[in-house]
Amino acid sequence: MGRLAHNDDLLETLTRLCERNRIRCGFLQVIGAVQGAVIGYYDQKKKKYGRNIVLRQELEITSCLGNVSLKDGGIFVHAHVTLADERGKAFGGHLMPGTKVFAAEYVIRELKGTALVRKYDAVTGLYLWG
Ligand code: ZN
Repeated sequence: MGRLAHNDDLLETLTRLCERNRIRCGFLQVIGAVQGAVIGYYDQKKKKYGRNIVLRQELEITSCLGNVSLKDGGIFVHAHVTLADERGKAFGGHLMPGTKVFAAEYVIRELKGTALVRKYDAVTGLYLWG
């Protein structure tokens, strides 16, 4: 567990932390605040992420949950966030690169055992655990 730095990219920094610590299987949680965020929404009919939702405002990370597994031979962090504005109004979705940390505290928990590997799933169009 630890603190992310001001201006860190939330997703990229979590991924780098897992890579540095060779965490291939685990889960994580983050609370804190961001200066802006980019989140995605998966269109189930088109089987792809629609246009990113770009939030250019200061927001609280009320919840960020994710998991760590393998994809294309590398460590892959999949995380979702719920972010709240000054009125408590919430936004949520799939965490994308471009979410800039104001201040944040993370916990990454490594799980022992065989790391799950993501493989393309034709039914959903997603890379799911095989
Ligand atoms: Zn997702």
